[in-house]
Amino acid sequence: MHAAIATEAYTCPKCGERSTKGQLSQTGFHCPRCTLELAHLDLAPNGTVRQVHGWLLGPGDLVQGRYRVTSVLGKGGFAATYLVTDERLQGKRRALKELPRDLYEADFSKALDLDPKFLDARRNRGTEFLRQKRYESAIDDFSAVLAADGDDTGTLYKRAYAYCTSGKGTLGAKDLRAILGIEPKNDDAKALLRECA
Ligand SMILES: [Zn+2]
Repeated sequence: MHAAIATEAYTCPKCGERSTKGQLSQTGFHCPRCTLELAHLDLAPNGTVRQVHGWLLGPGDLVQGRYRVTSVLGKGGFAATYLVTDERLQGKRRALKELPRDLYEADFSKALDLDPKFLDARRNRGTEFLRQKRYESAIDDFSAVLAADGDDTGTLYKRAYAYCTSGKGTLGAKDLRAILGIEPKNDDAKALLRECA
């Protein structure tokens, strides 16, 4: 994390606990007091944080120039839900769900309706399903990608991970050996093969 960002203060929108962003990177971006997950995270299949997409909004923040956040209702997966008041409708209260745009699976599904051969969308949606631990759906998308491009070792690895994690170690091991046939020095594939086989 960049030093300037690491020392930036962040106040938990739920309990008011103040931390620095550097401290929060040490707690997996969970509030040290109330344990709320405070950021939208890009997680690697093994759970390590690859990137912070954004931080939760707090009381008083304005969304889409219209909805004023009153409080955080919760955070599950990568969606956060807020209680907001609608400033265009005399402060009518409603719940608002926030998904970081680049993580929105429905976008990929829409793109795939328009063009079923749009491999990037399918690859990304599969990755998305993987994050949500929807292994069957992830495997379906990865298999479609691999049918078009069998040497895509990144996708082979993700499908192997989905297989291994959902109890289909034999199929996972097969994908990992295929990777090692293409990239004999792929350490990630070797490590997963040891766990999976
Ligand atoms: Zn908190």
